[in-house]
Amino acid sequence: MSLTRSRLLQEMGIDPVWRLRDGNAAETPAATASTSAEMDAGDAGLGPAVKQGSPTPMAAGVAADMAGVATMDWPALRTAVADCQACGLCRERKQAVLGVGDEQADWLFIGEGPGAEEDARGEPFVGQAGKLLDAMLAAIDLKRGDNVYIANAVKCRPPGNRTPEAGEMAACWPYLKRQIALIRPKLIVLLGRAAMHAVLKEERALGASRGTLFEYRDGELVVPVLVTYHPAYLLRNLPDKAKAWEDLCLARRTMRQQQSAGSDLPSDPPTRGN
Ligand code: SF4
Repeated sequence: MSLTRSRLLQEMGIDPVWRLRDGNAAETPAATASTSAEMDAGDAGLGPAVKQGSPTPMAAGVAADMAGVATMDWPALRTAVADCQACGLCRERKQAVLGVGDEQADWLFIGEGPGAEEDARGEPFVGQAGKLLDAMLAAIDLKRGDNVYIANAVKCRPPGNRTPEAGEMAACWPYLKRQIALIRPKLIVLLGRAAMHAVLKEERALGASRGTLFEYRDGELVVPVLVTYHPAYLLRNLPDKAKAWEDLCLARRTMRQQQSAGSDLPSDPPTRGN
């Protein structure tokens, strides 16, 4: 049963304040001024300046074991991840969770790592956070599995649902990198700071990185990247759902630019240095 938009926005905790408009007009929230005031001083707001990120390097010892990942197809990747023992997270997992969705999706959402439910079911974002993610997707007319792929920075559950360590994300990076290369998305949305760290090697606080359009580069592949809060965080911090809504609106505008401009990054505004 499909939910109405009003119901979806209620799920996100932002109804009835903001609604998507038709066309390409910016869906600017009424509370922009107060929201911006909460951001770090270095944050220029939600204008999508472009910043270039670089993939997180992995440890040299792991690199040798992972050399073949860069040329794997989907079946080989699934098998490699299922059997992987490249970091300590393999010890307590029930199963590795590669990802779910359309393998040729325009939209790629990347979270942190599997939780207990994901570990049991073998699919990312299936618990309460998953329900919220589905509501977030639906609010911008997206649906899990339909032009959307969902992955995580690490494929195995960190014990106690802790944040994955930098070394674990580095060990798992070749798999995520290969997923990105195979999918070739038009936009990557990073959910939470761990995902931001894994993909962009970006150390700033997430709140200071929202509204910035990053670039992911891998050879000739260039993909714009936006960051927003992880749904699990939003479940604990309800007021920040409004900020996530801002981010989703920006993501939707960015995707429209991408789809109208082919695979080129939006030319406006100009690149902002690190
Ligand atoms: S988290 Fe990634 S690198 Fe670590 S064991 Fe699982 S699949 Fe391998």
